[in-house]
Amino acid sequence: MATTDDRAISSHLKESRRFAPPDAFAQRALVGSREAYDALYRESLEQPDAFWRRESSALVWRTPWTRTLSWELPHARWFEGATLNVSESCTDRHLSGATRNKAAIIWEGEHGEVRTLTYAQLHREVVRCAGALADLGVTKGDRVAIYMGMVPEVAVAMLACARLGATHSVVFGGFAAEALRDRIQDSGAKVLVTQDAGWRRGHLVHLKETADRAAAQSPTIEKVLVLRHVGQDKAPIGMVEGRDVDWHHALEHASDAGKHAVAVDAEHPLFILYTSGSTGKPKGVLHTTAGYLVGAHVSTKYVFDLRAEDVYWCTADVGWVTGHSYLVYGPLSNGATCVMYEGAPNFPDWGRFWRIIERHGVTILYTAPTAIRAFIRQGDEWPAKSDLSSLRLLGTVGEPINPEAWIWYQRVVGGGRCPVVDTWWQTETGSIMMTTLPGACDAKPGSTGLPFFGVVPDVVHQDGTSVGPNQAGLLVLKSPWPSMLRTVWGDDERFRTQYWTEVPGAYFTGDGARRDEDGYHWVVGRIDDVLNVAGHRIGTAEIESALVSHPSVAEAAAVGRPDDLKGQALVVFVTLKPAFAPDDATRAALLRHVEGEIGKFARPDAIRFADALPKTRSGKIMRRLLKDVAAGRDAKGDTSTLEDLSVLAKLRADEE
Ligand code: ATP
Ligand code: MG
Repeated sequence: MATTDDRAISSHLKESRRFAPPDAFAQRALVGSREAYDALYRESLEQPDAFWRRESSALVWRTPWTRTLSWELPHARWFEGATLNVSESCTDRHLSGATRNKAAIIWEGEHGEVRTLTYAQLHREVVRCAGALADLGVTKGDRVAIYMGMVPEVAVAMLACARLGATHSVVFGGFAAEALRDRIQDSGAKVLVTQDAGWRRGHLVHLKETADRAAAQSPTIEKVLVLRHVGQDKAPIGMVEGRDVDWHHALEHASDAGKHAVAVDAEHPLFILYTSGSTGKPKGVLHTTAGYLVGAHVSTKYVFDLRAEDVYWCTADVGWVTGHSYLVYGPLSNGATCVMYEGAPNFPDWGRFWRIIERHGVTILYTAPTAIRAFIRQGDEWPAKSDLSSLRLLGTVGEPINPEAWIWYQRVVGGGRCPVVDTWWQTETGSIMMTTLPGACDAKPGSTGLPFFGVVPDVVHQDGTSVGPNQAGLLVLKSPWPSMLRTVWGDDERFRTQYWTEVPGAYFTGDGARRDEDGYHWVVGRIDDVLNVAGHRIGTAEIESALVSHPSVAEAAAVGRPDDLKGQALVVFVTLKPAFAPDDATRAALLRHVEGEIGKFARPDAIRFADALPKTRSGKIMRRLLKDVAAGRDAKGDTSTLEDLSVLAKLRADEE
């Protein structure tokens, strides 16, 4: 392709399928028409002060803000002058009305036990935990690391930190000691909150053991607060004298320091969250108080069209940003009933998710493409065994969703009745940036749709000028939004160079995208993964979606391999559905299929069948490592965020 912009990306797949919001849904929706969405979107840009004041009026403000935004690229200050405490919006505010005795968290353990915390009970626990943390010396501005599984107490601990004005850093419970240690050291946490162990796929994950190893190498840690979740008989733990404190004992005897929430400034640091590292060294993304809360609150309400009677289930682990914004802060600040599940989606079998939906009457399900692809691979008979008629809305986040997977989700899980919202956002953005509001906008499978309120995305050349319709380019956000990251913890220079220098005047997302003639956005993959195939720069998502649209393919990853002749050869890694054989006939069929879907030039140079693809611990395909495998190199860079190292070893062993 002749172009003056050597970062231009070709775009070849054209999707024309459209799904309008079902009438029954639109009639009751908070935003019930395209016109209503357009009007609100326009207001959010043209009159941001009026818009955000109205939309955040349900939240608890100790003092209102005096200035909506101060913006000096790349530093934003939102809602200056306001003082507040996030825990009051998530708990205290629900105590005076009907929400008081409503379920806030319905927790299901991997072995099937259920615990429910009402808003009044959640509030009580948060107050007690904040008191206990204060007794351990935690005060405003301190950092607290949280290394736990999916138990209600993880939400309690987060809100308790917020209540004291302490900054939490939740580290996913699947990380090893070194990864935990690095994150504790980087944040300078003073207290670590952990639990004895948690259940995952029928096995115990010994969190306290790992926490001990990390804490031993983390001089800033003064105290470790330990929840006994599975108990001493199943997971015997040692307590370090003078350092370790028992959760139940500490909460029982807590001072009343947690009773009154500490009012903090709008820009007070709420949490640090290290990104999952699909692409390299983890960064401590810093989110602050008012802007983050407003972003999480308003987006949860509109994107999930929340109603008082909903039972909302976000399957993300609280160790990821989705777990922060859409399991804790967004839904709780809206007074929603949230399901929280401790274990694996396939324990004891692939019917588990569907039984949870039936058992608790889940109405909104928010999950990830990796889970959806895994369910597809197991066959339609699993969801068919449960009654899923309570569902009214489905959501997806984390990776581009292949259109075939979207359609399966809509048809098999949603019974053709539920809108599907594909939500594009990042740890850095704090809340959902793009989607199609479920009662207002048509959805197109594979597209993340239109900007959320206050968000100005664009697809640009490297010089910042917009590319034309259906031309792919760099996905940027052109104006500040309330829940944007404020910096990289301890490394403002990295914040600047990583996000604000690639494209002048805009926030660079690291993703490539195109915008179609209707203004819908299609993420074509990460810019670093863009392939150069016979002179065409092409996103990974298009080739992968073409492969996944073949009936034999469950999952696919496309990467480039250095090639003397072509510059780059196209290598695809494919996992097949169980009924298909990894043989030459399948290989030939897939080559023909890609040629037909995209064009001859995109014909892969090599197809490698694999039992599984390397993924991050949040379930995203790690193309960075596959590139090394394809090139026959040892994996470079950080593999600590890899879910299962054996997958990589197996791929290497399979090399011809
Ligand atoms: P790291 O930044 O450390 O490499 P990560 O980018 O995987 O990790 P997240 O912030 O969880 O960490 O993920 C955000 C990224 O996930 C986006 O930049 C995009 O590449 C991808 N993504 C998330 N949601 C969607 C979506 N709905 N459609 C397409 N891509 C998505
Ligand atoms: Mg990222």
